[in-house]
Amino acid sequence: MRRITILILLLIAAIAAVCGCSGGIAVTDPLYGNYYEIFVGSFYDSDGDGMGDLNGITQRLDYINDKNPDSKTSLHVDGIWLMPIMPSPSYHKYDVTDYFSIDPAYGTMKDFENLLKECKNRGVKVIIDLVLNHTSNQHPWFLKAAEELAEGAPGEFAAYYNVKDTLTTGFHPFGTGGPQDLYYQGVFVDAMPDLNFDNENVKKEIEKIAKFWLDKGVAGFRLDAIKHIYSDQGQNVEFIKWFSDYCRSVKKDVFLVGEVWSAAAEINAYAASGINSLFNFPFAQQTGIIANAIGQGAGEYFSNNLIKSRQALLESNPDAIDAPFLSNHDLDRSAVYFSNDLAKQKMAAALYLFMPGNPFIYYGEEIGMTGSGKDENKRAPFHWSASDSIGETSGPSGMTSYIAPEKGAAEQLQDENSLLRFYIDAVALKNKHPAIAKGATSPIDSGNKAVAAYQQTDGKSAIIILHNLGFDQASVTLPAESSYELAGFLAASGGDVSLRGNSVDLPGFSSTIIVCP
Ligand code: CA
Repeated sequence: MRRITILILLLIAAIAAVCGCSGGIAVTDPLYGNYYEIFVGSFYDSDGDGMGDLNGITQRLDYINDKNPDSKTSLHVDGIWLMPIMPSPSYHKYDVTDYFSIDPAYGTMKDFENLLKECKNRGVKVIIDLVLNHTSNQHPWFLKAAEELAEGAPGEFAAYYNVKDTLTTGFHPFGTGGPQDLYYQGVFVDAMPDLNFDNENVKKEIEKIAKFWLDKGVAGFRLDAIKHIYSDQGQNVEFIKWFSDYCRSVKKDVFLVGEVWSAAAEINAYAASGINSLFNFPFAQQTGIIANAIGQGAGEYFSNNLIKSRQALLESNPDAIDAPFLSNHDLDRSAVYFSNDLAKQKMAAALYLFMPGNPFIYYGEEIGMTGSGKDENKRAPFHWSASDSIGETSGPSGMTSYIAPEKGAAEQLQDENSLLRFYIDAVALKNKHPAIAKGATSPIDSGNKAVAAYQQTDGKSAIIILHNLGFDQASVTLPAESSYELAGFLAASGGDVSLRGNSVDLPGFSSTIIVCP
């Protein structure tokens, strides 16, 4: 036992000597990592029926993480977020009819268990979408509730939903077979009746659901629509705290990321619940901080906002992990709002992938897929290859407009200037420097409005991140008291970086990582 300890100590010392400049071994926190969001139905079709499925994801895991950190053919993300996989009458499955199974269109529970096993072999975490705010109006709970109420005998299931006798905004008539003088709440649409969270039985059901999937081996959940649980923010925060505490009692290192589609102040109010993570909507979308910064060549604006955003988030919850992203299944794809401009898409990727926290890449974003307007258009078939259609899905039936990128993933993997290779390089760089993800953020004065500059420190290593969002080369003088080493460079439109002493020359549209030994 003692010999093993000494061997381990020697090994640590050897690694530390090699690392030298950063002064220690990078300690990775299991809660941190880069994620990939997948709409299962549009990702990869393993059996030729046109529908993406769980076995399809298992077959294409090398694309997600091939376990060889040096390969240039894999994204090397640490986790995947699967959009809803439970049985549902809709194509998007955000209205669940059974919280304990897999939608047959996507495969079987065995397929899911197999996917979990294969992901575990590669160190890839799986989080699944959990839709708690509402069920489907085809869920047995709701069907029984309607029956009880129609018979004038409200019982166990009627109390699962919010029912009243006046028709106001957000309420709907039951329709045929249901009570004729009562209305139920469905904040989104009538097909999605809201659950009654004041009912202890509903909360018990939710505990059962969470435990079921955590015991199965999921790393955590993406929590849908959590600002709609109650109409009151304080009650929602209480609910999320209760749910987070419960999940942690089942799995200590559970990772929960919530959707609060709002401005920063409201998102930060929810962070106080103690949930690990909340999506950073203000930096995403066409009108968000990243797109604005790129549109205006305003690097300083980006880093100023980043510093402000970090401060406010960590004040609300010092353990909060930011979840930056560019696009998701509800938003226009970023290729659309960057007008397919390759350099802008690359620059945007570098900006959010190098933000502290757990970035979420929306499937297809990394190959420049387009899609806007109708939701179905934003959830189009992943374009695996321009030369063959093996595994390509048919896409949602309501999809009205979709143009696949000229090059598919297969072709882009071979092209070192492609968007996909840029994503691969950026994620690799981030993986090499864990302080980018988990570290204290402090501002650096770049002296140039086009240049974003900030430092990430995890106590062991200090890392400086510079983005030049201008078209022209920019020179930045770093504080004189340190020495610096170049640790990574990404050019969104060509050129090279140079570092002499504390002076850095950055070509236009480029990102540089510098370590302070
Ligand atoms: Ca299929």
